[in-house]
Order: sequence, then structure tokens, then C-alpha cells
Amino acid sequence: MDFATLRDRMVDLQIVSRGIRNQSVLNAFRKVERHRFVPKEFSNSAYNDHPLPIGYGQTISQPYMVALMTDLLNLTGVEKVLEIGTGSGYQAAILSELSNKVYSVEKIESLAEKAKATLKETGHGNIEIIVGDGSVGWSDYAPFDAVIVTASCPKEPISLMRQLADNGRLVAPVGSSFSQVLTLYKKKGKETSRREICHCVFVPLIGKEGWEAEVDG
Ligand code: SAM
Repeated sequence: MDFATLRDRMVDLQIVSRGIRNQSVLNAFRKVERHRFVPKEFSNSAYNDHPLPIGYGQTISQPYMVALMTDLLNLTGVEKVLEIGTGSGYQAAILSELSNKVYSVEKIESLAEKAKATLKETGHGNIEIIVGDGSVGWSDYAPFDAVIVTASCPKEPISLMRQLADNGRLVAPVGSSFSQVLTLYKKKGKETSRREICHCVFVPLIGKEGWEAEVDG
């Protein structure tokens, strides 16, 4: 089967069937070539229903999880979005299809460089990537209409919430290092509401407002 057919099957069998109906989100998943964001040896598994390794102990998330988090942001095409955890660049590419500008922070320099190269090849030009600790956000460009954290937070991401614009939305996995709750925060004036969506498992957010890095030995 060719990649375009596998991609359509991924959307129908993994994403639509689990309840995601926003046509612009579905179109982005039909369009972005996920196989270009995974290491070559995994190209043939790129459209399967699970995460995949991308090197350095990190992963590209399961397609449905990327779709669910994207859907929760309710993007309309005009937003400024902040992503924490660029990884392969796949989630950034999906966000770039649905918003005006994406800022993405990655802790591991080699992953950030690889993601930049892939996104240049795929023609996603409205994305800026920096290497750094995204647990404290990217204050230079705040406020953001939407924030997405693709690594697990040990507690509520306070700095990131502060960088949300009024009516902004933030989605993040919050919990222990083994299991988290995907949580949606919405800011309205001085109030921020919080909704628990589902259980999930992400690699850790390592940084000042994340987990401490593991010490070898
Ligand atoms: N969104 C990515 C994609 O589409 O491939 C998947 C992200 S992966 C599940 C989590 C990423 O968060 C890893 O690449 C990891 O290096 C990164 N990360 C962990 N702690 C971070 C931090 N404090 N700041 C920025 N990135 C961080």
C-alpha cells in the first residue's frame, strides 16, 4: 500500500473512529506526510496506531494522541501557537497547517536540527524552533493563543499558563512520570478553568518547571 493510502486509513480507523470530527484537523492529518518525520527504518510503521522512537530516548506520539491534543486547541488558522517538545517536528507541522505561526522549543539540539531540516523539506515555513528549556515557555513571543506540551509535567505548568493570551487554551499531560492525565486549561480574564480529558503516557519534560534530569551512575 502507498503512503497516501496508509495515511487515509490512519485518519479513518484511528482518528475519526475515536470521535474527532473537525474537518480542518482531519485534513491536516491526511496531508502531512508522517513517514518523513520518523527514522527511515520505521517508515513502514509510520501510520500505525502507536508511538515510535525518534532517537535520544524520545518518541513521536501515537497519531490519535497528536490529533486529540490538536483538536482540543480549537485552532481556526489565525493563532500564534507555542509547542513544548519539538521532537520529530510532526506535531509542529500539523499545527502549522492549522494556525498562523508556530513557536516550538526542544531541549535536545540534534532533534531540533533534524526537525528543522525535515520541516524545510516538507515546506512548513511558519515554524520557529529554538533549543532550550521549554518548561518556562518562550516569553519573548508571549502571549500565545494556544500552548501544547508534548512531554509530561510533574505539576501544573505555571509559567506556560502565564504566557497564554486571554481566551487561550493550553493542553498538557500532567501527573507522575509513569502516567499522566491529559489536561485542558482555558484562560478567560483572570480565571483559568481546567478539564481532565483522559489518561496518557508521555516522556518527561526535563527542566526548571519539569522533572530533574536523571543523573548517570
Ligand atoms: N511533539 C513531538 C513530535 O511531534 O515528534 C514529540 C515530542 S516527544 C513525545 C517529547 C519531546 O520533549 C522530546 O523531544 C524531548 O526531548 C522534549 N523535551 C523534554 N523536556 C523538554 C524541555 N524542558 N523543553 C523542551 N523540550 C523538552
